Amino acid sequence: MDIRTPDDREPRVTAPPTALPAPAVGECVLCYVDRMLERFGCDTTLRWACRWRDVRLPGATGLERRLGARGGFCDCEIFLNGWGLRPDLQVPGEDGEPIWPAPRPPCAGVGRRSSQGCANWEPRRRPRW
Ligand SMILES: [Zn+2]
Ligand SMILES: [Zn+2]
Repeated sequence: MDIRTPDDREPRVTAPPTALPAPAVGECVLCYVDRMLERFGCDTTLRWACRWRDVRLPGATGLERRLGARGGFCDCEIFLNGWGLRPDLQVPGEDGEPIWPAPRPPCAGVGRRSSQGCANWEPRRRPRW
């Protein structure tokens, strides 16, 4: 077995010990991060976004910068500030407000070399700083 020692600039203090769920084949970064946040929450870093990148597209070194440019400095901020589920995919509850957390549609999929979100997500117009 080959034990990987990632050459990180920042130590991953709270990295969970073993086998983390990996992104599914063709799953986009946003669907993966969203799925992981629901199960494991945010540790105030981009750990899931970085994990997606490490597994799927190690060459996408601009990912954090691109997420940060939209206010996503940790995994949950990606969705608070950067991208939201497309309105027509949200299921309204009894009070007419979208249910949160909304039931997620399956990832619409992205190309193997894309670090963009799939068609399920759209950029938020006004960042909520
Ligand atoms: Zn967060
Ligand atoms: Zn997706």
